Amino acid sequence: MKRLSIKMKIMIWFTAAMIVMVFGTTVVNFSISREVLDQTIQERLINTVAANAQEIEYYNSPKGEKEPTDFFLSYKEGTLEIDDDFLDYNEGIYTALVDSENNLLYGEMPAQLEEDEAFSFTSVGTIKYKGEKFYIYEKQLTGDDLQGLWLRGFVSENETTNVLYKMVRLSLWLIPLIGVLSLLGGFVITRRSFLPIESINSAARQIAESGDLSKRIDIFTDNGGLCGSTKKAKDEIQNLACTFNDMFSKLEDAFNAEKQFTSDASHELRTPLSVIKANCEYALDFASSDEEFKEALEIIHRQSNRAASLLSQLLFFARLDQRKTSIKLEDTDLSLLVQSLCDDRRILLSQRPVLNTDIQPEIHTMADKDLITRLVNNLIDNAVKYIGNGDTIKVSLCQNETSVVLSVSDNGIGISPENIPKIWDRFYMEDQSRSQTSENSFGLGLSMVAEIAHLHGGHMEVESVPGKGSRFTLILSR
Ligand code: ADP
Repeated sequence: MKRLSIKMKIMIWFTAAMIVMVFGTTVVNFSISREVLDQTIQERLINTVAANAQEIEYYNSPKGEKEPTDFFLSYKEGTLEIDDDFLDYNEGIYTALVDSENNLLYGEMPAQLEEDEAFSFTSVGTIKYKGEKFYIYEKQLTGDDLQGLWLRGFVSENETTNVLYKMVRLSLWLIPLIGVLSLLGGFVITRRSFLPIESINSAARQIAESGDLSKRIDIFTDNGGLCGSTKKAKDEIQNLACTFNDMFSKLEDAFNAEKQFTSDASHELRTPLSVIKANCEYALDFASSDEEFKEALEIIHRQSNRAASLLSQLLFFARLDQRKTSIKLEDTDLSLLVQSLCDDRRILLSQRPVLNTDIQPEIHTMADKDLITRLVNNLIDNAVKYIGNGDTIKVSLCQNETSVVLSVSDNGIGISPENIPKIWDRFYMEDQSRSQTSENSFGLGLSMVAEIAHLHGGHMEVESVPGKGSRFTLILSR
């Protein structure tokens, strides 16, 4: 049993349950039916005898007009008229008219009664005659001069058994037919339901063997197309397949982003390293004066600073990724923190550009101080880098009922609307020539800012007009 597939186990269980259920219902059904049929036939027997009793009349003197279809027989000094509605045989029920000496006057008797048994069945009883069992019911006639006359009704037990046999015969092919049909239905449904599992299995195996994350589980939804986040599944297993497809897509995206990141990082590192190597070779082979050596060393120094800065940013990203699961948020006086960051920056900037602040005091929020410091510094760094001909940077902090809002705005060169969505991508730089003049520009700052916002359960927004300036806003929910 352990080695059987779930599909097989369900089918076996389903079949066994089906057999037990059909068998049980049939047995219960037959026993109930037998009782119900017995009762019904006994009631019919009583009713038929009672109805026939109404059809008998007695006349002292000969009746003037005689109905040609009625039956007449002499009784005592008069005549008994038996109406043609008297049913001596009706659907298995016999009725006989007998006198008090047990003589048959009219009708039919399929069984004979012993002397001592006669007139003792005023409620339904049973007798056995020539191996056949009969229900019997006797009713004494009442009314003018009818005393001493009895109606005796018989019905064979076979009448009940015959109906039961019919039921058995019907059940014999109907129940297996229903059983086979439901099993077939069950088989088709289980087979169809389990198909996605086979697809999931084969897709997972193919991905494991080929390492190709672009493969998907071939489950097609009702509205067509491979299922995934946009296509809705029609049952739980399809839903599982869709969730797997979604997961594969996310894994593929993450894997591709990681690949892109590694390739971009290598590319960025190669440039300063090539410059350093070229300058070393030049200094060793061709530099002849102290000035030429000094010039080569200065270039080497600058480029090694750039490489070191890139490495430290990459390291920070790696730590940020690790921190995603274990960020330490603590109650932070954000007003104080942002104010002190701006004060420090003012000292570094001396006069230009002017750094203005509009900070609402006493704003507390749960935050990681190091990460928020990094975020604010990055935004101010960018404002300083892209200030262009403008000369004002403004840092403001306020809160409303739902959120804490921190923004850094400048009246610098701004960003073209079509590039705004790209600025959050790692290694994206809108103006390469301008950015690269700065040692620390790698296009990593804003993606780091966005990730820090995300880690705090918040998000970044940007408004920018080329030539007029930009405003970067961090929104944290309270
Ligand atoms: P970078 O190291 O190049 O500054 P970022 O990720 O910080 O990298 O920024 C990405 C790009 O967004 C920059 O190359 C620049 O074009 C644009 N950008 C960022 N901040 C500003 C700003 N304050 N004003 C204008 N452009 C900006």
